[in-house]
Amino acid sequence: MQTIDDLIAGPGVAGKRVFVRADLNVPMSDGLITDDGRIRAVLPTIVKLVEADAKVIVASHLGRPKGAPDPAFSLLQAAERLAELLGKPVAFAQDTVGPAAHDAVKGLEPGQVAVIENLRFNPGETSKDDAERGEFADQLAALADLYVGDGFGAVHRKHASVYDLPARLPHAAGLLIGTEVGVLKRLTENVERPYVVVLGGAKVSDKLAVIDNLLGKADRILVGGGMMFTFLAAQGHEVGSSLLQEDQIPVVREYLARAEREGVEFVLPVDARVSGSFPDLKTKAPVDDVEVVGVDAMPAGKMGLDVGPKTEELFAAKLADAKTVFWNGPMGVFEHPAFADGTRAVAQGLLDSDAFTVVGGGDSAAAVRTLGFDESKFGHISTGGGASLEYLEGKTLPGLAALEK
Ligand code: ADP
Ligand code: MG
Repeated sequence: MQTIDDLIAGPGVAGKRVFVRADLNVPMSDGLITDDGRIRAVLPTIVKLVEADAKVIVASHLGRPKGAPDPAFSLLQAAERLAELLGKPVAFAQDTVGPAAHDAVKGLEPGQVAVIENLRFNPGETSKDDAERGEFADQLAALADLYVGDGFGAVHRKHASVYDLPARLPHAAGLLIGTEVGVLKRLTENVERPYVVVLGGAKVSDKLAVIDNLLGKADRILVGGGMMFTFLAAQGHEVGSSLLQEDQIPVVREYLARAEREGVEFVLPVDARVSGSFPDLKTKAPVDDVEVVGVDAMPAGKMGLDVGPKTEELFAAKLADAKTVFWNGPMGVFEHPAFADGTRAVAQGLLDSDAFTVVGGGDSAAAVRTLGFDESKFGHISTGGGASLEYLEGKTLPGLAALEK
């Protein structure tokens, strides 16, 4: 993969229009950015290009608009935050490839930055039709001379700006993608052992696929979060009204059997915190019916919303001797203080080990920050949940393949 340094040494970037495909898909609430980690993560690339006197065009998606402009998904806030973080003005174009975008780019002096509006306001960005995507990629290509791919959170998508555009311009990987791929290599090649993987969160069926691949690689797999209940159900336990992926029970059973055959240690929770209803995450009103129960004694009408204290101890012990840890997915509904302890315990477990620790997943990264942990104490906090999981599954990621060509 070519790097920005190769672009600087090769075609040169000074005075050239450089299209940076970033991932500014930040979480927002009531029109405000709640976590700007992804904007911070692409800063080094933008700064490097600015210092090399490039005319920098930053593009990204935000959320899932339906292929047409929608003010609820505007990148304006993200552009403003980028300007604050850069400490210099950032132009903003109110369309992606239309007259406003062309004007914004024409107005750039070397070393200046413009953000164009949400790529997904255009149906061609995410189209499954190669010709439609190609047409949109042609329009994007008309804005720039060079391409830098740095939207790691989107590299698993075969989208116009990720996959088709780099084929149309001299291209290189940005610094963030360089770092992320370097970290993922440490999790897949010559891994330092014991290698412990902690999985949780809510997207159960998305994450089960990664276990398939990890069974051949990890020494120990710890499962918590909403995922745990499908495993507990597979072992014949009552799970009440907890998150459950019933159709995946046979798959999960097969994983447990394979783990045993292959000598991979599968660690499931021994207790859980349950409640009669899902907590109010907006008001964070106290929950007065939280109970800690053993996993073999889950009451029928109740919902498991966090692992319990015995599980916290067990997981901490299983992390203590690790040399490499990959963690994806909170252990409970950490957004509410009544169900944040399991997630806090795992984060602390990572810090207490001597392992190279990697946290992947938007909510997992947000959990680490909102629970007050010092991000710099972790080996790496990935900006891409889906992208890192697909890499670990052994899949080819379109956005990385396109940069390699
Ligand atoms: P990530 O973004 O880190 O990949 P996910 O998106 O898969 O993680 O899951 C994060 C969400 O999982 C959080 O919003 C959290 O509230 C939820 N969650 C964790 N445990 C449970 C549970 N037991 N029941 C329901 N939701 C849960
Ligand atoms: Mg998530």
